[in-house]
Amino acid sequence: PFEVLVVGGGPAGAAASVYTARKGFATGIAAERFGGQVLDTMGIENFISVPYTEGPKLARQLEAHVAEYDIDVMNLQKAVKLIPAEQTGGYHTVELENGAALKARTVILSTGARWRNLGVPGEFEYRNRGVAYCPHCDGPLFKGKRVAVIGGGNSGVEAAIDLAGIVGHVTLVEFDTKLRADQVLQDKLRSMKNVDVLVNAQTTEVTGDGERVNGLVYKDRASGEEHTVELEGVFVQIGLVPNTEWLKDSGLLLSKFGEVAIDSHAATNLPGIFAAGDCTTVPYKQIIIAMGEGSKAALSAFDFLIRNANP
Ligand code: FAD
Repeated sequence: PFEVLVVGGGPAGAAASVYTARKGFATGIAAERFGGQVLDTMGIENFISVPYTEGPKLARQLEAHVAEYDIDVMNLQKAVKLIPAEQTGGYHTVELENGAALKARTVILSTGARWRNLGVPGEFEYRNRGVAYCPHCDGPLFKGKRVAVIGGGNSGVEAAIDLAGIVGHVTLVEFDTKLRADQVLQDKLRSMKNVDVLVNAQTTEVTGDGERVNGLVYKDRASGEEHTVELEGVFVQIGLVPNTEWLKDSGLLLSKFGEVAIDSHAATNLPGIFAAGDCTTVPYKQIIIAMGEGSKAALSAFDFLIRNANP
């Protein structure tokens, strides 16, 4: 059995495991895909103190840092069920898809999230070559260029406002007949001169020249006509889904978006179970934030163990 079991091997989980191992706790880390979303990222320019790195390189460095310690890394292992301890200080159980059941006095959940995809031709092919999901990360790469933002909820409209200050022109594309973002954001957006808003518009394709994105095709849902917008970038903002489906019946408190609810100490509603990073209610989903949150969850697990676990 583990003193600390980390579920998820992205920036949050890697940070958590290093912190608890450094406290001398028997630490395990089970990850469906060690590295997490970082593996799908190309250029990273906002990981402070590292002006530029690339996702696969950062993922290798996470792995190397974890390997410096006596951490039991279980890669390619998917957790399917969490059974919380019956008493405070007792063992929690995490069941894996392969049938194994892992026991631990504390669990740190760091299973991250995934961006919802459009599922149209060109989106996957031009990922990181014009198709982007994170305006904080990739906005500056499109300085002075033309981009579209797909999605008229709060995150889409916020992204469009953010990008309008950096890029040359923004086209916001919403499937519904109206935007769903807060009115104050909509007003701000409509006051910006370099923004066009298209509603009732279904994105049907992202086009490119083989190298990079060069346009977007949408269908006007009223007339059925297809139109092309020439541009250099497409930001998809139709939702970030936390990887918490497997936690639904565990008794763990989740937000209405499915995020694990945590307090300022990364504690969940269940004693001895902590959570960190993109799978939680923490605002702003970023690498540097996930690492900070993972470290925080680890220190909270440490505090819990010295108070509650029998030797
Ligand atoms: P994740 O990185 O999502 O890791 C989750 C881990 O949990 C993975 O190991 C996964 O396999 C595992 N997992 C999931 N479900 C289970 C399960 N049931 N059982 C076991 N393991 C499971 N952020 C920046 O700061 N800068 C950037 O430039 C940047 N660019 C990005 C570009 C792209 C294309 C994407 C998708 C994201 C980008 N981000 C960027 C966001 C950043 O990657 C995330 O905020 C960060 O990775 C979150 O870390 P995490 O550890 O919380 O989760």
